[in-house]
Amino acid sequence: MARYTGAVCRLCRREGQKLFLKGERCYSDKCSVGIRAYAPGQHGQGRKKNSEYGLQLRAKQKARRFYGVQEGQFRHYFEIAERKTGVTGDNLLKILESRLDNVVYRVGFASSRAEARQLVGHGHFEVNGHRVDIASYLLRAGDVVTVCEKSRGLEKIKSVIEANASHPVPQWIDVNRDAFEAKVIALPNRDQIDAPIEEQLIVEFYSK
Ligand code: SF4
Repeated sequence: MARYTGAVCRLCRREGQKLFLKGERCYSDKCSVGIRAYAPGQHGQGRKKNSEYGLQLRAKQKARRFYGVQEGQFRHYFEIAERKTGVTGDNLLKILESRLDNVVYRVGFASSRAEARQLVGHGHFEVNGHRVDIASYLLRAGDVVTVCEKSRGLEKIKSVIEANASHPVPQWIDVNRDAFEAKVIALPNRDQIDAPIEEQLIVEFYSK
């Protein structure tokens, strides 16, 4: 399935909540969820009928959109999560959180996951000293993410790190902005993941 290229604010409006897909704008009065608090499209303000399947589908779509993952890859993550020991929903969230683009965003080296994906794709980051330009690269406990030496002087990188200096960093990552470095201390538990995801509904969706 092709990547969605339409207006991303429509995705938040469809889910009825902020998914923080646009960086700074999401924290401003310009956020579309506040301005037009109904689903997009001709029937957006019509009656909502939420079947059990509908709720499960929306939970899955919301998680995909929140993390910027396409359908095939999302299902692949689910299959990995199912094979692991422990709770499948927790495993799935852990995998999604361990993506390199997510960590780059979480530590404030990018304003949104979309921007993080772009910066990673342009080769601005290293993992354990080796350049990685794959946004879906899965990090493990102990991995160290750094901005490449050559990229540290770039205006784009400097301004984005400065703009996100007060970005709250999750407990499971240790960040040193002066050293352009972030270390994954341990992969997160569910209660350390700040994400509006109903993972149990996703498990039910794929278990049909
Ligand atoms: Fe979503 Fe951000 Fe757009 Fe608001 S501004 S609707 S949070 S992407």
